Amino acid sequence: MARSSSPKSSSKSNLDGFSAAQVFEKDQGITYKDFLILPGYIDFAPQDVSLETRITRNVKTKLPLISSPMDTVTESQMAITMALLGGIGIIHSNFSIEEQSAQVERVKRYENGFITDPIVLSPRHTIADIDNIAERYGFHGVPITEDGTLMTKVVGIVANRDVDFEKNRNLPLAKVMTTELVTAPKGVSLVEANEILRKSKKGKLPIIDKNGRLVALMSRTDLKKNREYPLATKDDQKRLRVGAAVSTHPHDRERIESLISRGVDLLVVDSAQGYSKFQIDLLKELKKKHPEVDIMAGNVVTREQGEALIKAGADALRIGMGPGSICITQDTMACGRSQATAVYYTALMAAKHKIPVIADGGIGNIGDIAKALAVGGSAAMCGSLLAGSKEAPGEYYYENGVRLKKFRGMASIEAMEGSGGGAKRYNVEDQKIRVAQGVSGAVVDKGSLFEFVPYLMQGVRHALQDMGCRDIPALHKALYSSKLRFEPRSLAAQAQGGVHGLYSYKKPIIGAE
Ligand code: GDP
Ligand code: GDP
Ligand code: 5GP
Repeated sequence: MARSSSPKSSSKSNLDGFSAAQVFEKDQGITYKDFLILPGYIDFAPQDVSLETRITRNVKTKLPLISSPMDTVTESQMAITMALLGGIGIIHSNFSIEEQSAQVERVKRYENGFITDPIVLSPRHTIADIDNIAERYGFHGVPITEDGTLMTKVVGIVANRDVDFEKNRNLPLAKVMTTELVTAPKGVSLVEANEILRKSKKGKLPIIDKNGRLVALMSRTDLKKNREYPLATKDDQKRLRVGAAVSTHPHDRERIESLISRGVDLLVVDSAQGYSKFQIDLLKELKKKHPEVDIMAGNVVTREQGEALIKAGADALRIGMGPGSICITQDTMACGRSQATAVYYTALMAAKHKIPVIADGGIGNIGDIAKALAVGGSAAMCGSLLAGSKEAPGEYYYENGVRLKKFRGMASIEAMEGSGGGAKRYNVEDQKIRVAQGVSGAVVDKGSLFEFVPYLMQGVRHALQDMGCRDIPALHKALYSSKLRFEPRSLAAQAQGGVHGLYSYKKPIIGAE
């Protein structure tokens, strides 16, 4: 849909402000705070604004929001929440291979259409085996087949209510399972199977072939989850989508294979300076071996860097070197780029290849997300903004009466001393002296993302409405046709744009600094 045009805005001389090209060709790099976008013409409501976007060549999300692969931001709970709400989470790699793969599997098993690889037991297994499954995956409903594998005859099903009050956990499942089953035949459509589940009022629906062998399972809970989270980011089997961070180091090839075998949707090559032979070789190798898995490459900040990665096969670029809230790269390494400039130029180049760019780091409020999109980003990747939420890893603690959660850079000394994820990203793994490129600190409690993310996204809808754009493709079209007008702002203008002149005031959850 095109940007709405006001009756008078057709003649060029009527246009105030500057095109993005004029603003960014200046000799200074600029960041989100340095400019504003001039308002456009509104003929629609905020709820008419679609925030649907493409975050890689093949992965679409309903919201342009990605949680960063940091060990104080994205583990399975964050990734599940982000995907349910319409974004996506990238599981960090400061984990052993098995731990990170298990995190991915937890997300992939959270919601389903047909569960094509359900956990199955035999009548000879015991209630204790159900307990183990419940502890590992969070569900109790297990179909029972003759020999405890898929594609053998279904003889019963065990649900929580069959085992919850039983004291003897060594009892074989043959003693407690329900044997009268409602089933559906192989080949049934998702819609038909949902209808059978709805009518049967049972928790699970085994799908069987004509010989009574189990081929898949459906869960009633998924109908509820689907109804409650209409924006959820799902694959074609209705499983939530999830990404995972990996490094270019040779010993991470095993990690990559393991993550792919557990169904990861998207690999993020986690490197602070992505324009390297290591990354280009990895991209070429993976695109040959696993063309079905999308790869977000990076980090890059220039067109030259980004184009090399796209030519090697990148399905998305992650943009940012130094803008992160916990980051000291620019001061330490003397390299980097101001974030709005970096996003603008890389997006300009990547648009020619139809590859999305992700604005990573330095997003502190709703306006920053809107600006990241307005300079060509297809989504915002956030660390500090989402840290401190209930769904972020770690426990809350109090300091001076304020409820906080830890938040740290992946290249902080503390994170580098963890399982090594941060050190790999920042290329300092094998060196004795570790130079930190990040700090550790704390952020205040943000409550639950189930309230916070909808709030952020409603804010972004309002921002796009003010710009006169109904969706992200329209915004990008306006950007590249110079219809979207920008204006640099002075330090005084920035100060005036914030709250000022008050003795005290109450901050909204986010927005005022
Ligand atoms: P479409 O893309 O327009 O066909 O819509 P969806 O893919 O959202 O839904 C297709 C059918 O699958 C509808 O009957 C949905 O209710 C159902 N559906 C969507 N997601 C899930 C899910 O996670 N689990 C189950 N069991 N059904 C789902
Ligand atoms: P239960 O009643 O204790 O089995 O748990 P729920 O039905 O509330 O939740 C089961 C959730 O786990 C659903 O969203 C399923 O899609 C999901 N799930 C993923 N893999 C499996 C599996 O192998 N078996 C079962 N039972 N559920 C699975
Ligand atoms: P934030 O959203 O907190 O401003 O930035 C998050 C981003 O900062 C991450 O997605 C990642 O790109 C980057 N980052 C994470 N840890 C570090 C670090 O220790 N040093 C640097 N330079 N950047 C980091």
